[in-house]
Amino acid sequence: MTDRFAEQMALRDVAKDTRLLGDFAVIYCRGNHPGAERTRLESDGVALGVYGRRPPKVCADCAELLTYAEKRRAYCPKDPKPFCSHCDTHCYKDDMRERMRDVMRYAGPRSILRGHAIDSVKHLIEGRRHAREAARGRQAAHHEREERA
Ligand SMILES: [Zn+2]
Repeated sequence: MTDRFAEQMALRDVAKDTRLLGDFAVIYCRGNHPGAERTRLESDGVALGVYGRRPPKVCADCAELLTYAEKRRAYCPKDPKPFCSHCDTHCYKDDMRERMRDVMRYAGPRSILRGHAIDSVKHLIEGRRHAREAARGRQAAHHEREERA
């Protein structure tokens, strides 16, 4: 574990995001990997106590993804961090990105039932704002083209 990882995980927002990822992984694993053997995660995040006394219990595949995601979150170069789905820096490897997208898609809506309503709503609002801004950007470009013509 690097100093930078430990420093980042000591930050409230980074720890909170990491815990949320852990909760998402648990929801996803239970729903998509029936019969898989699940054990408590052993990772640098766990060693630092980020998840509290009960680290997420997931299968080996989900543990791999979650351990990877911890690192990506800790080493995120953006401050403030945008929602990963709207970020222009692709810090995830392609296959991990695909896997994380599946986890988010599955667990995001289901997490509303588990007390993450506020995070999910924030994500939704942020997503709409992002879509509006993208639309406005396209419109502006369109106007510019018309003015030049
Ligand atoms: Zn799993």
